[in-house]
Amino acid sequence: MAEIDAPVLRTPLPGGSEGARVTLRPFSTGESGVPRGFLHRIDEPLAYQRALWRGARKKFDHWTPCPIFLIEHPTAGRILVDTGLPAAMAHDPKAGLGALAARMYATRATEEQPLPARLRALGIPRGGIDVVVMTHLHFDHAGSLNEIEDCVVVVSRKEWRSAHAGKALARGYVRREFDLAHDFRLVDFDDPEVNSFASFGRSVDLFGDGSVILVSTPGHTSGHMSVIVRLKDRECLIAGDAIYTQHSLNTGDLPLVIADEHNYKRSVREIRAYKQMTPSALIIPGHDAEFFASLDEIY
Ligand SMILES: [Zn+2]
Repeated sequence: MAEIDAPVLRTPLPGGSEGARVTLRPFSTGESGVPRGFLHRIDEPLAYQRALWRGARKKFDHWTPCPIFLIEHPTAGRILVDTGLPAAMAHDPKAGLGALAARMYATRATEEQPLPARLRALGIPRGGIDVVVMTHLHFDHAGSLNEIEDCVVVVSRKEWRSAHAGKALARGYVRREFDLAHDFRLVDFDDPEVNSFASFGRSVDLFGDGSVILVSTPGHTSGHMSVIVRLKDRECLIAGDAIYTQHSLNTGDLPLVIADEHNYKRSVREIRAYKQMTPSALIIPGHDAEFFASLDEIY
């Protein structure tokens, strides 16, 4: 399959300003139902098959949020981290789901939850987002990319390649969600020029002012990244699916499906080391209902 071409991001995006601090609003775009043993593996024979079977039977353990984050930067504009579930989900729960995903998950959203409604509620037009950072391209993160326009979309080069490689659907990617005429820029964490940041071996300073740092956290998918932002009084690590829950972070318990277990474990180690080095930081896991419910409306 031919790779759809997109340029590599070689210099910081425009708009950075020295010492800039950002605001952050977390939103859930809806929820997905997960079978027992999906977020954290259960030690049982045939655990993988059993979890699939539970998913196929719609025997869900609980519902988890599908978050997105709106960041406002004083000079670089509005940045969105992930886009969540497809907006059509509110009308048709099956919309946008591929075969395996539809077997493994059920999704649900109210009219007010998906991205377009969130932007409308804040009075932000479709073209009012300047940059979208994708932690990865799974269907529950890229679902509403088509709802915004005139923005730069930043994704890691490895993730882009993997999402366009074979058997994408079985690995959680729905290509029509991201095969769009957007201005994609690929972050190459393998470039020898990339820096480290805190405990993270590979990082890219998005605006060159330290306000938004992309850190490579592969494993959940082969090109996954997390995002560290500088809030008014502390840092926040938007971990994405590098850790599904706070439990995953605290215990190191593995989720059911991992693209690369070795990298996954290394990424969790880097996040744990970051937590130790930066105890004041807010660390937001990817799909933790209890933790998400405890978040403030704006930081
Ligand atoms: Zn994912």
